[in-house]
Amino acid sequence: MKSLERDSVTSVEFACLCGATRFHSTFSRASLPLPVHICHCSIYRRTHGALFTNHASLPHPPEWMAGSSEAACTRYRPAHGTAEMLFCSTCGTHVLDNFVANGSWMVSAAVLRSVDGKEGPGAAGLFKANQHCTKLLCHNSFYILRYNT
Ligand SMILES: [Zn+2]
Repeated sequence: MKSLERDSVTSVEFACLCGATRFHSTFSRASLPLPVHICHCSIYRRTHGALFTNHASLPHPPEWMAGSSEAACTRYRPAHGTAEMLFCSTCGTHVLDNFVANGSWMVSAAVLRSVDGKEGPGAAGLFKANQHCTKLLCHNSFYILRYNT
């Protein structure tokens, strides 16, 4: 890769808890920080065991790391879901969503491992949490939370 091309993209690695599911993606530096969609819907609350989840769009399908592949995942599509959810078949971490209608991908922002090979503070500034789901199902679920504002 030419230096100019390498300098204009950021390589981001993602991994599940156990490390069996590992993939990376490249993003244009101009696209950073990546908008993160925060979702409170019942589907994501139940599959994650958390009050909300967060996702970011991938510009292309995930690129699997050596020793890992989609075969390490289990796909599940909820009855009213628009995406197939991919979970690590070993540890159960929800890592990706693959939207059936257009083939697009979203990554669970929580499985971020490194940015340009840097972990922890080196990954600061990758995501920008600024979008809430506006779907009715999600909007209704939002009110189970009580904020101290
Ligand atoms: Zn795993």
